[in-house]
Amino acid sequence: GYLIYKGVREEDKEKFAILGHQFALALRRLKLYQDIERLATTDSLTEAHTRRYFLERFEEEIARAALRKTELSILMIDVDHFKGFNDQYGHLTGDRILKKIGRIIKDNIREIDIAGRYGGEEFCVALPETGLDGAFLAAERIRIAAESAVIHAYDHTVKATISLGVAIFPQSGQSVDELIDKADWALYRAKTMGRNRAVVFGKYK
Ligand code: GH3
Ligand code: MG
Ligand code: MG
Repeated sequence: GYLIYKGVREEDKEKFAILGHQFALALRRLKLYQDIERLATTDSLTEAHTRRYFLERFEEEIARAALRKTELSILMIDVDHFKGFNDQYGHLTGDRILKKIGRIIKDNIREIDIAGRYGGEEFCVALPETGLDGAFLAAERIRIAAESAVIHAYDHTVKATISLGVAIFPQSGQSVDELIDKADWALYRAKTMGRNRAVVFGKYK
């Protein structure tokens, strides 16, 4: 921040020094507040939002979509055979892979989309104003980006794939729980169908 003053009389200079000091303090407080807010809403490993923050925002987006009568989609994402990476390379390398997957997800969604770490190696993304076609496209974009990425983690070079389940408001469900449950169910189908794929709830071949 800048505090610029000119043409100040000699006898007022001290007042301005005090003012400057106050200004610097207020700025520092603001910065601290922002840091705390970011820490509380961001997962430290993957830099996705925390599960709690994601759920709050998702609930808000459902209310907004209901009011505006627009669609809204959710993606549940799970890394395929992730346990194998941990077993083969160790948990530190596993963490690096997870971090990279988080990055890939963020790089392949829009500014208005909300990405969260749901748990362990599971992520979720809320896609406002997005129906079936858009959600499936987004899911495929993320899936292909993950599949194509060469991940460097410590001394290892690995390739990882992800499976995705898609649910859409209002047709798949109308509440947070219902939508997550349906996306989870679609994700389960993606896993049983062979992994490395995106499946939309209710659209099984
Ligand atoms: P699937 O394709 O069916 O999803 O197989 P999977 O091995 O990914 O599934 P499973 O749920 O059995 O394993 C998930 C593993 O993710 C187990 C757990 O040790 C690991 N994991 C969860 N959170 C973290 C984490 O923060 N760091 C690391 N390194 N591993 C984690
Ligand atoms: Mg899992
Ligand atoms: Mg998994």
